[in-house]
Amino acid sequence: MISIREPFTAEVAVIGGGPAGLVSAIALAAAGADTLLIAPPAEPDHRTTALLAGSVTALETLGAWEACRPHAAPLEKIRIVDDTRRLLRAPEVSFEAAEIGLAAFGYNIENRHLIAALETRAVELNLSRIASPALAVTSDAAGVTIKHAGGEARVRLAIGADGRRSLCRAAAGIAMQRRTYPQTALTLNLAHARSHDGISTEFHTESGPFTLVPLPGSRSSLVCVLDPAHAAELLAMNDSALSAEIERRAHSLLGRMSAEPGRGVFPLAVETAEAFARGRIALVGEAAHVVPPIGAQGLNLGLRDGATIAEIVADARRQHLDVGAPEVLARYDTQRRADATSRTIAVDLLNRSLLTDFFPAQGVRGLSLYLVDRIGPLRRAVMREGVAPIASQPRLMRGEMV
Ligand SMILES: Cc1cc2nc3c(=O)[nH]c(=O)nc-3n(C[C@H](O)[C@H](O)[C@H](O)COP(=O)(O)OP(=O)(O)OC[C@H]3O[C@@H](n4cnc5c(N)ncnc54)[C@H](O)[C@@H]3O)c2cc1C
Repeated sequence: MISIREPFTAEVAVIGGGPAGLVSAIALAAAGADTLLIAPPAEPDHRTTALLAGSVTALETLGAWEACRPHAAPLEKIRIVDDTRRLLRAPEVSFEAAEIGLAAFGYNIENRHLIAALETRAVELNLSRIASPALAVTSDAAGVTIKHAGGEARVRLAIGADGRRSLCRAAAGIAMQRRTYPQTALTLNLAHARSHDGISTEFHTESGPFTLVPLPGSRSSLVCVLDPAHAAELLAMNDSALSAEIERRAHSLLGRMSAEPGRGVFPLAVETAEAFARGRIALVGEAAHVVPPIGAQGLNLGLRDGATIAEIVADARRQHLDVGAPEVLARYDTQRRADATSRTIAVDLLNRSLLTDFFPAQGVRGLSLYLVDRIGPLRRAVMREGVAPIASQPRLMRGEMV
């Protein structure tokens, strides 16, 4: 049962105002929890996110999707092309959302538009916000104290949404298991002469995927995974040389290309927290897991984290339990670990099968894609699991309020 001896600033604090933190805070407020967001204004983010169907449903349910919609492009078809020069190559495989009764697998949106829509929704909901970073976080048996530039906040539960170098994670004493890859992702957005027709195209190359994902109009976002030396070469090119090089790598599929300003470089790594919660601190988004930008999993996992913690807090509140109690956090840890681990393993396997020169592994990848291409029920099962994993769909992702 809840003890009401000491004064609390709020019941829950969310630390970090990236997309995972904003969704967590909005969902917690929707769950009726007295929520405080501790987050400096968002920094410029040129990344885009392919939001899969469940994430879009969650944003709709939280009232944030309407503001995203004009900036989001539907992903109606996904095409995978084996662009390796190996002996065993996979057949070209296409998946259409209509095959599983969906208008789109999801929608691609620039993070700046997603964050702006979520910030607007937070304001509409009168969410309390301290617009400066947490400077120190300490937890004890009764609550969590968060120091910030303007003073201190005391809460029963802190949600660490503070990204890869999470202060909250360090405060909870949670270690990260980390593996790096000899690869770098170069990201940028481009305009192109031909229409993408709602098709996302993933070229599998020996150095990793080269993926063009539709944006509204004749624009796409690019994630090009390369070895670090090649990434540095591309990064040093001027806009016109880079545009020509990307067009070459895309086999002129979308015609003449023109790179927009704002290039990103991300060394590839997999990081998973050894626990998703401890000592009244729960981790969401990249504070808990970092996956390579392959197969659009990272933030979709992060949004499921936010939806799940809000659901668990809502259930605890209905039972008049302390929302930061160990049994509440243990439930969160169990529910999120399986989803994050299975996604991480899938992305890791796909990436390694591209990098390997091991002949049987190339064969297995080719055969898997061949089977998925040819066997209808398997195709549909793979597509459904990709957009909406059966095992871990929190209520928000099913269109129900927490
Ligand atoms: C190239 C690339 C492409 C990607 N494409 C996709 C995709 O298509 N689909 C997908 O699902 N995912 C994708 N991802 C992953 C996705 O971008 C991340 O999962 C997501 O941005 C992480 O969001 P976050 O809110 O957890 O962290 P961040 O966006 O890193 O936000 C953390 C926030 O915490 C704040 N913060 C840090 N310290 C403190 C502090 N002490 N106090 C308060 N605030 C603090 C920071 O200012 C920041 O605003 C991609 C990633 C990359 C690198």
